[in-house]
Amino acid sequence: MKYTCPHCGEKTYSPLLKALCGGFSSSGKPCPNCGGRSVNGYLNLIVNSVLRLTALVMIFVSYFKFNTMKEVLLWGALPLVLAFVLGFLFDMFFGKLTEAIKKE
Ligand SMILES: [Zn+2]
Repeated sequence: MKYTCPHCGEKTYSPLLKALCGGFSSSGKPCPNCGGRSVNGYLNLIVNSVLRLTALVMIFVSYFKFNTMKEVLLWGALPLVLAFVLGFLFDMFFGKLTEAIKKE
């Protein structure tokens, strides 16, 4: 399964390459066929923002809810890791690629 390049219209992006493209703030990855740079679109931007925001809220909540350093670290770090992993997986399998705006 491959994703369509917004530059040449060919299905050239593998799920892993798509995930590595990043979002609008990144310079993206070049298409193996035409060399045009692509990033993940708005849907991925929204999902990743929500995931990171949720992780931040979890860190705050765990900071006030738990007393021991171990618990705070566990419940504070876990959401961050989860947000990163889920965001990466979402980029791999969902959303569309779009042309990179930012130049290198
Ligand atoms: Zn292309």
